[in-house]
Amino acid sequence: MSGSVESLQEPLRSAVKALQEWGPRNGVKVTIWSARRNKAQQISLRKSNCGSSQWAIYEKPASQCNPATARPGTSKHETGRAVDLGPNASENNKQAEFLRHYGVTRTVPTESWHFEFKPGAPDRYLQHQGKGTVLASTNPVAGPQSNSEPILEGTGTPIELSGGGGFGFGNIGMGLGGVGLVGVGVFVWLKLGLKKGIKSL
Ligand SMILES: [Zn+2]
Repeated sequence: MSGSVESLQEPLRSAVKALQEWGPRNGVKVTIWSARRNKAQQISLRKSNCGSSQWAIYEKPASQCNPATARPGTSKHETGRAVDLGPNASENNKQAEFLRHYGVTRTVPTESWHFEFKPGAPDRYLQHQGKGTVLASTNPVAGPQSNSEPILEGTGTPIELSGGGGFGFGNIGMGLGGVGLVGVGVFVWLKLGLKKGIKSL
């Protein structure tokens, strides 16, 4: 099968490229099993997975093939809008956690490896496994560094701090205690920022 990331359509292509950079640095294996397929390749896949009769190749419902395989002309792979990733389901789960920040998720309940760009859509594979509903981001990042919205805004109450009598950050008449509170606030802000930065990868 054609396994070139370049054959994929944007924004799926950029998401997979980001995954290929991030994976090796974070102990996650990434292999591309199948990216864009032409019609002949889809037909050959239908023969392997669905049967070799004309009916099996062109008419048999996708779900009756093993594994499920779309009819020629209807696969997202034929337009470069789907990618199958290896090497196994365990790595696929880690890949999915990364890719969902890019609006990419798994759309086939029985396939841990099949990914499409579908912002806001649930991870159908995790749902099928009984692991709850995890949604792809509706505001996909364009790259790992672009998720830079502020963590704490304006002069909000520092709710992360315990005790301290309710100082606001905007309190003009702060004494030494207030200055200390700002110091702690900055520390917490940095810590949260760091945590969020790691999570957004
Ligand atoms: Zn696929």
